Amino acid sequence: MSNDEEKKYVICAKCGKKVEKGEEINYKIRSIRNFGRGGKRMKFCSGECAKNMQFAME
Ligand SMILES: [Zn+2]
Repeated sequence: MSNDEEKKYVICAKCGKKVEKGEEINYKIRSIRNFGRGGKRMKFCSGECAKNMQFAME
């Protein structure tokens, strides 16, 4: 991936799909086991991927 593309896109933390910057879903994954009490804010292409990631961490 070129530097130029990195500026324009973010990569979905779940499926690895490229999402245009500004279109990504920021979602805090809660998992005390993996990330402690604060959880971890991650970027996703869709709410579906965010839910799937949360599900995988539970
Ligand atoms: Zn995704």
